[in-house]
Amino acid sequence: MIQPLKRALRNSIKSANLQLRTKLSFRALAAEDETFLTLFPGNAKLRRIAGGFGFTEGPVWLPGENALLFSDIPGNRIYRWEPNGKLSIYREPSHNSNGLTLDPLGRLIACEHGTRRVTRTELDGSIKVLADSYQGKPLNSPNDVVTARDGTIFFTDPPYGIRPDQQELPYQGVYRITTEGELECLSRDFDRPNGLCFNLDETSLFVDDSSSRCHIRQVVNATAGTPNEAKVWFEMSRPGLSGDPDGMKLDQHGRLFCTGPEGVWVFSPDGAHLGTIRLPELPANLAWGDEDGKGLYITARTSVYHLRTEHGGARPAWR
Ligand code: MG
Repeated sequence: MIQPLKRALRNSIKSANLQLRTKLSFRALAAEDETFLTLFPGNAKLRRIAGGFGFTEGPVWLPGENALLFSDIPGNRIYRWEPNGKLSIYREPSHNSNGLTLDPLGRLIACEHGTRRVTRTELDGSIKVLADSYQGKPLNSPNDVVTARDGTIFFTDPPYGIRPDQQELPYQGVYRITTEGELECLSRDFDRPNGLCFNLDETSLFVDDSSSRCHIRQVVNATAGTPNEAKVWFEMSRPGLSGDPDGMKLDQHGRLFCTGPEGVWVFSPDGAHLGTIRLPELPANLAWGDEDGKGLYITARTSVYHLRTEHGGARPAWR
């Protein structure tokens, strides 16, 4: 692109940012590409819908109940929030739950730091342990989880929830729980494997690394057989900026939303950084919700935030 055009594009993005910033209560949208601002309604407003927690994580929308669940990890609780503002305790103790998701039958899958396990809440309310050890050694502290359409469960196992002397596995794995209940280790070469999500057709699983390597990797063929080597999809390291890649979700057009330095980074399906949603607190995870699936809920340290988007989250809604 010739220089004057580049300058004009930069200026139009800057001015659009300024316009949006005057509408939003916080300078929430920082565009890197002109398409970024079209992802949000003109009257979009970043709202803090709940606060006063220890460290929020694991947002998941319950489509049948029109409610959001999220973890407060140090608070040892899972909360239930409704759009009318009602906040209640869904589970206590939660065993310091972190990532939450639903499986295709709507059952809640939870990563628990305190018990170092992944559990499923059955439809009768009982809790079944799906994984707590691998090859005879306790897991580190399962962090985040996603389910495939066929019910296969994928989770990450960094050591954030344990002391160094408690770690028995000599690596930080990415795991798969098959539909038969078998636990398989997909990768051992992440430093701090953390957030994960699928692309639209589930041919690729994205996994990020929150260590100083600070990147998103793409694992091809994760759902069946032996996956291909995880290649780096995007380097997120930004020296001087605080925040690491953590929770990730996809929108319905395959754009990847990933928490990272300074906020939630939004990527095109081919890996271009379109812009960043900035928040007053550093985010750790996100999930789409609302009756039309277009509300973005972001857990960020002591609070949960909400921002309407134009396109909504990837289907199926339980992801
Ligand atoms: Mg995480």
